[in-house]
Amino acid sequence: MDEVTGAQLIAEALKAQNVEYMFGIVGVPIIEVAMAAQAAGIKYVGMRNEQAACYAASTIGYLTGRPAVCLVVSGPGLIHALGGMANANMNCWPVIVIGGSSDRNQETTGAFQEFPQVEACRLYSKFSARPSSLQMIPAVIEKAVRSSIYGRPGACYVDIAGDMVNAKIDRASVRFVSCCPAAPVSQADSREVTKAVKLLKTARRPLIIIGKGAAYARAEREVRELVEVTGLPFLPTPMGKGVLPDDHPNCVAAARSRALLQADVVVLLGARLNWILHFGFSPRFSPHVKVIQVDLCAEELSNNVRAASALMGDIRAVVSQLLESLKSESWRFPSDAEWWATLKEKMVANAHMSKTLALHSTVPMNYYTAFHHISELLPKDCIIVSEGANTMDIGRTMLLNYLPRHRLDAGTFGTMGVGPGFAIAAAVLEQAQQSSQRVVCVEGDSAFGFSGMEVETMCRYKLPIIIIVINNNGIYSGVDPDTWREMEKMGDMTTIAPPVTLLPEARYEQVMTAFGGCGYLVRTVEELRSALQESLKNAQMPSLLNVLIDPASDRKQQEFPWLTRSNL
Ligand code: ADP
Ligand code: MG
Repeated sequence: MDEVTGAQLIAEALKAQNVEYMFGIVGVPIIEVAMAAQAAGIKYVGMRNEQAACYAASTIGYLTGRPAVCLVVSGPGLIHALGGMANANMNCWPVIVIGGSSDRNQETTGAFQEFPQVEACRLYSKFSARPSSLQMIPAVIEKAVRSSIYGRPGACYVDIAGDMVNAKIDRASVRFVSCCPAAPVSQADSREVTKAVKLLKTARRPLIIIGKGAAYARAEREVRELVEVTGLPFLPTPMGKGVLPDDHPNCVAAARSRALLQADVVVLLGARLNWILHFGFSPRFSPHVKVIQVDLCAEELSNNVRAASALMGDIRAVVSQLLESLKSESWRFPSDAEWWATLKEKMVANAHMSKTLALHSTVPMNYYTAFHHISELLPKDCIIVSEGANTMDIGRTMLLNYLPRHRLDAGTFGTMGVGPGFAIAAAVLEQAQQSSQRVVCVEGDSAFGFSGMEVETMCRYKLPIIIIVINNNGIYSGVDPDTWREMEKMGDMTTIAPPVTLLPEARYEQVMTAFGGCGYLVRTVEELRSALQESLKNAQMPSLLNVLIDPASDRKQQEFPWLTRSNL
C-alpha cells in the first residue's frame, strides 16, 4: 500500500495547482505542512506575524496571477491572518489561506486554540471550507485555487483539522484533481460596444481611467494601443500607475482634479467608483458624466453611477473589441481639442508648484524635497511599495512608475502595515527570477511600526529591499524633540501627548542594523542622496534610511480639502 499523509496531500495538491510560494508562521499543528511543501518544491518563507505573511502571499497573487499560500496555526494564528485576507479580498487579489485547527475529536471541548475558523473566514473570503476527509484534500485545494482566480479574484480559506495533518491513507483512495485552467475570458455584449463607441465619438472631454484591475488583467499592451490609437488622455488610479508609464504624453495625472471634474465621458478600465474615485459623484465629477464601464464583475456595473455603456468582460478582450470598432471607423480624438489645452495648462501650473516646494532646501527637509531627490535616484524599473498618510499621498504624485504592477500600496482598504509584507513578496519573486530590479519601500514612520519586525525576515533571506522611512515623529504629523521634552516636564504623557505623536527622532535604522542590514540616519539632502546611492549599490542585504523630516511639513494646498486624507 502506498501511504500518504494529510500534510503531503496538501503540499502535492498545491504543487499540482501550480502554487509556488507559501508564506507563514509554523507551530502546532502545521509544521509538517510547511515541511511537506518544501519537499514538494514549493518555496516557503517564514514570517514574523501572520498578518504580514498574508499580505506577502496576496502580493504574489496580484503580481503573477497565480495565488500563493498563507499558512497559519489555529485560533490566534488564523485571526492574525484575517487582516491580510480582508485586504486581499478588498483589493480583488487572489490568495489561499490554510489554517490548522483543533483535532476533530476535540471540537467544542475548549481545545487548545479552538475557534470556529471556517465561519470566521466567511466575511473575509469568497470561499471557506474544510475537507471532510483526507481523500477530499486535493479537490478542496483545487476549488480554493480556482475560486481565487475565477470571476472577481479574492481570498479563499481551507481549514485543516490538526489530526488530519499526520494521518495516513492509501494513495489509491484519494480523489486527485488536475491543475485548474487559467480563468475563462469573456467578451462584452457587442451592442454595448457599439454604444460605447458612439459615446466616445460624441465626447468633448473624454478621459480613460486605468485601475489596478487593468494591471491584474495584464492589459498593458491593449490599453496602450487604445490610448495611442484614440489619442485620449488617461489617468491612473494609485495602483493603476505604471500600466502605461507615468511620463506617457497622454497621462494627465498632474491635472487629476480638473480631468475628473470636467470629463464628460469616462472610460473606466478595472477601477471601482469607490472612495478612491470619489464615488463618481459631484462635486469631484460632473453630475452629467457618462461612464463606459469595463469590469468582469457584473455586480460592479453601475455602482454609484449608472453605466452609460456596461461592458462586462475581461479588460484585454473588451479593449480589443473597442479597438477593432474604433479602428474600423478610423476615429481619433483631435490633439488640438480645447480639452487638451485645458488639461495641459493645469499640468504645467501643478508641476511648477511641486518644483517650488521640492527645491526648498531647509533642514529638516519637507516631504517634497525628500521625494524630489529620491525620485531622481530611483531606477526606472524599481518596484515601489508605499504606505502612510502624507508619505503615500505625496509620494504617489512624485515617485513615477514606468512599468505595470510596479506599485503596491495601502490599496482599496487603506491598510497600514502592508509595506514590509508586500516588499518581501516582490523581492522573493525578483530573487527567484534573478532579476536586478530593486524593491523600494517608502513608509511613513507610523506605517512602518505596524510590521517593522519583518525587517528580520528581510535580513534572514538576504532580500535587498530598501526601506525609506519618512519620519515626521507621528501619525499625520508629530512634534519636534524640544516640544516633546517640554511636554514630558509638564506631567503625565498619557494625558498630555497628542494621540498623533510618536517618539521624536526614533532610530528606526537601528532596527535594520540589529539584524545585519544597513541603517542610515538621514537629515540633509546630501545624506539622503549618498545613503540611497549606497543602498542601491548594495544588492546583498536590505537597507533602511531613516529620513527625519520637518514634523510640521504638510501637503500643499488642495483644491478640495475635504476627502483628501490618503485618497487623492
Ligand atoms: P483601483 O483601486 O485601481 O481603483 P479597484 O480594485 O477598485 O481598482 O477595481 C478593480 C476592478 O477590476 C474590480 O472591480 C475587478 O472586478 C476588476 N477586474 C479585475 N480583473 C479584471 C479583468 N481581468 N477584467 C476586467 N475587470 C477586472
Ligand atoms: Mg508619520
